[in-house]
Amino acid sequence: MIPWEKQGSAAWVACPGCAKWFPVDPQLLAERRVELVCPGCAQSFFSTDTAFVASSALSKAT
Ligand SMILES: [Zn+2]
Repeated sequence: MIPWEKQGSAAWVACPGCAKWFPVDPQLLAERRVELVCPGCAQSFFSTDTAFVASSALSKAT
């Protein structure tokens, strides 16, 4: 299953530490550099530090 196939307003990011996918507010990702905290392993990382970002909101805009 590909997470971003789900319909909704959430953006999905993958933790660079444990590769767990979790939803975030796409408005947060609109900021240049936002610190995210993984709910799986509690690692904090910046939105710019993961290549795994999918946003259904963005795909709708294209
Ligand atoms: Zn993690």
